[in-house]
Amino acid sequence: MSSLDAFAAQKLDDLEARGLRRRLVVTEREAAALARRGTGGQQRRLVSFCCNDYLNLSQDERVKQAAAEAALTAGAGAGASRLITGNHALYERLEQRLAAFKGTAAAVVFGSGYLANLGIVPALVGKDDLVLVDELAHACLFAGARLAGAALAVFRHNDMNHLETVLQERRAAHGQALILTDGVFSMDGDLAPLAELTALARRFDAWLMTDDAHGLGVLGEGRGSTAHAIQRAAGGEEVEVPLQMGTLSKAVGAYGGYLCASRPVVDLIKTRARTFIYTTALPPPVVAAALAALEIIEHEASRRRRALDHARLFAELVGLPRPEACIVPLVLGESAAALAASHALEEEGFLVTAIRPPTVPDGTARLRFTFTADHREDDIRRLAACVRARFLPRESA
Ligand SMILES: *Cc1c(COP(=O)(O)O)cnc(C)c1O
Repeated sequence: MSSLDAFAAQKLDDLEARGLRRRLVVTEREAAALARRGTGGQQRRLVSFCCNDYLNLSQDERVKQAAAEAALTAGAGAGASRLITGNHALYERLEQRLAAFKGTAAAVVFGSGYLANLGIVPALVGKDDLVLVDELAHACLFAGARLAGAALAVFRHNDMNHLETVLQERRAAHGQALILTDGVFSMDGDLAPLAELTALARRFDAWLMTDDAHGLGVLGEGRGSTAHAIQRAAGGEEVEVPLQMGTLSKAVGAYGGYLCASRPVVDLIKTRARTFIYTTALPPPVVAAALAALEIIEHEASRRRRALDHARLFAELVGLPRPEACIVPLVLGESAAALAASHALEEEGFLVTAIRPPTVPDGTARLRFTFTADHREDDIRRLAACVRARFLPRESA
């Protein structure tokens, strides 16, 4: 065996022994949150509770039709980066639509949410600057911060006292400061305290950026966690998030990332963000699908309400705290426990993949349930009964 293959095999054995090896399973998603899992005779039809397609728009006929038409008129791929020949008129339309919907002056679209964060953060800060990141923020915010080469300070999850202390101790030694947080935390479903973050950012002259992958389409009339926080703000509180990043791959049901911000910030990003410049534009069908989905998000409030109601119904039936978004975690501890729980639910016809480190902190492996508009109430009740019977200590069940 070559040293390379021996290295890979040894690493995999080690990960396997720790319950951390990951495997791909062929999954064919259908309408109404159904998924066919596996191949050939092994294939099973499951109700999926682990997809981020909160409004089921990836399977919506209007969205699929828009993608198909764009493929036929504009082609399957973009052919080049936006700055060369890839800038089809659809991109401009999508950016204008996003900015108008989110209430910002401008927007820029990236190949994915991950690429957006890898591009945005290094375009704004560098080695003389300070980046402050919530410890539970998404992996790609950390990746962007590391790529920027700035000093990195991690603050305890949603702990504004800790953030204040870090700012007091470290802010003055740096040029710019950038605070990074998820708007809706991807593995816990809780929200960042945007009013408090706004106040701290102002006081210490730091720039606030949210990753709203799980807020767009769901919270704040679909406009996301910032709009939601503005609606909720108590008298005198202000919410201002000058850098609102998100993805088109979750509630929007398509693919791609975006940043909504002021005109100069967006123009700077289009000039300097390496993951915007040195990569091919999104395929036109994907852009057309996102446009069609945004239209639906803006006009069909009932979808968003149903998705949230489903998450709340499940949490209530199981006896978990009332969720603020469509994500409900059930922390089980060790990876083996989460894997076993996931297998047990699969036997009952439910698809809920186990979430393990390093996606979540050590000792907090979990089932992460996500709810969508088109889930059937019957299925949610059956799932809740299963979860109560199998995974909850008797006292709380
Ligand atoms: C999914 C996710 C991303 C990545 O978005 P993609 O478009 O899938 O690359 C970024 N941030 C958070 C919080 C996410 O949940």
